[in-house]
Amino acid sequence: MNILVSACLLGLETRYDGKGKMHPALVALSEQHTLIPVCPEQLGGLPTPRPPCEIRDGRVFNQANEDRTDAFVHGAQQSKEICELTRCQAAVLKSRSPSCGRGQVYDGSFSGTLVEGNGVFAQMLQDEGIPVFTEEELDKLAAWLNPAELTNKYTSAVKQRRTSAVLVPNINKKTLQIYAISP
Ligand code: SF4
Repeated sequence: MNILVSACLLGLETRYDGKGKMHPALVALSEQHTLIPVCPEQLGGLPTPRPPCEIRDGRVFNQANEDRTDAFVHGAQQSKEICELTRCQAAVLKSRSPSCGRGQVYDGSFSGTLVEGNGVFAQMLQDEGIPVFTEEELDKLAAWLNPAELTNKYTSAVKQRRTSAVLVPNINKKTLQIYAISP
């Protein structure tokens, strides 16, 4: 399966401070899946290194209070296009980032305070129906992946027996994936 990944989590030096944030357990996923790295902030035309940004009142500002919303939205759109072109079925994105964060982001005060919310790119992917996980949710990703993989193995075994219509009349991969991401 193709999985979109925040480039910094694979060790690429794309972060605002010019560094990467390699996550070994995520990198290990490449043994079984194709990981496609993207950095929405670089794709939005922002330099590296760059001043850190946070979301406030639905806009993205850097520490100098300069509005960088347009670059963030452009980079998110470019990254979404890569997701579509490469047919990624899920994404693992960097937690708490104003682009990639899911569930929690910093509140715009640059004081380290977290609030509920999503980064610009994570929100865009979720709006498109792409399941988004952070690097801190690899257990949830595994739970989401396993039914699909089991289904692939099962379907393959059934095909070999040439009895698929009889054995799996109401179950297909899509059904199980939807079931897997239900609360
Ligand atoms: S925008 Fe996303 S991929 Fe790029 S450095 Fe920030 S967290 Fe990593």
